[in-house]
Amino acid sequence: MDIFEKLLKHMGPIGEHSERAHGYFAFPKLEGEIGPRMKFRGNEKIVWSLNNYLGLANHPEVRATDAKAAADFGMASPMGARMMSGNTTYHEQLEKELSDYMGKEDTTLLNYGYQGIMSAIDAVCGRRDVIVYDAECHASILDGLRLHPGKRYVFKHNDIEDCEKQLKRATELAKAQGGGILVVTEGVFGMAGDQGKLKEIADLKDKFEFRLLVDDAHGFGTMGKTGAGTGEEQGVQDKIDLLFNTFAKSGASIGAFISGDKAIINYLRYNMRSQIFAKSIPLPIVIGHLKRVQLMRQHPEMKQKLWDNVNKLQEGLKSRGFNIGRTNSPVTPIYLQGDIPEATAMCLDLRENYNIFCSIVVYPVIPKGQIIYRLIPTAAHSDEDIELTLKAFSETKAKLDAKTYQVAEIPVI
Ligand code: PMP
Repeated sequence: MDIFEKLLKHMGPIGEHSERAHGYFAFPKLEGEIGPRMKFRGNEKIVWSLNNYLGLANHPEVRATDAKAAADFGMASPMGARMMSGNTTYHEQLEKELSDYMGKEDTTLLNYGYQGIMSAIDAVCGRRDVIVYDAECHASILDGLRLHPGKRYVFKHNDIEDCEKQLKRATELAKAQGGGILVVTEGVFGMAGDQGKLKEIADLKDKFEFRLLVDDAHGFGTMGKTGAGTGEEQGVQDKIDLLFNTFAKSGASIGAFISGDKAIINYLRYNMRSQIFAKSIPLPIVIGHLKRVQLMRQHPEMKQKLWDNVNKLQEGLKSRGFNIGRTNSPVTPIYLQGDIPEATAMCLDLRENYNIFCSIVVYPVIPKGQIIYRLIPTAAHSDEDIELTLKAFSETKAKLDAKTYQVAEIPVI
């Protein structure tokens, strides 16, 4: 059998809708400068689906630094992996500044977050070790688990009792095998917006021996007094043994980093396959990161503005009777009831008639009959953006509840 043949018969749970959805619900093209107003199919939309939390993407100093660094060095430089020929003073300076910001001894850069965290898990855990992880961890963590040759135990999302139960099992097994335990969770869960229970998990260190890896992709720059993340927010930054962050969200760039004690970070530096065998982050990106980190630290008003907008949006939704679940971060889900045709029609109405562009999640990603919109407020949104969006959701929800949305056709332009 041709290996491609079976693939093309079943395009996968999302791929099977590709013909109808491509270019609209999947792979849409947002055009113009990154910000709260962008063009979609030629018309301006209020955009709620970009993780540009602090509005850094179009900060004039960021744009100027990125452009100058690209002109000075080009995108090729440095060539090769860090270990071989791809190291520079800028890479090391960025690692130092990030360590200082995160309150950790050392940091190593990761050329991509996804591969980086997979590779960190792979480098830390051998076949005798046991991984205990939250059920709602990001795909990059789950793929890291797939590389793990040993045992893993999942605990129910943010359920500390279950976490403790799994830690008991893990402890017995690790003892019998002569291995250790790595607990993996997130600072902010990207779909529901609830914070991981870092403090409660860290407290379990009194009872069990384990190391804690936290993916704080959504917490970096947005949570904690200085923006150092969810560990800072919950007062347990020092209890996080390995702290993973990405520049793909509030950092408005690409690339990531992992911070911790000097010895373990140095171990990772010399043992993470995704870094040893892959090209180092280009210099213009590293220099751009230095500027971003400087702005994050020197301008707390960006985070304040983000949170003002988060509070306006979330309070506005709650006071209008929307269910936004258990979020305690900027991530703002809206939970509604409806089947796929109604969800599609509502989303179309929001996009075409109210000019609201946001992400929607339906079956098979979540159970049938549920609709989740996910809004990401940023420091760049205006009061008008928020007001128009609240009005649009109120009106479209009324139509959804009145069963007005029946069949949806994607308009042809
Ligand atoms: N972890 C989480 C929780 C994420 O949301 C993402 C996606 N940005 C990643 C890891 C992967 O990071 P990157 O985009 O930098 O590859």
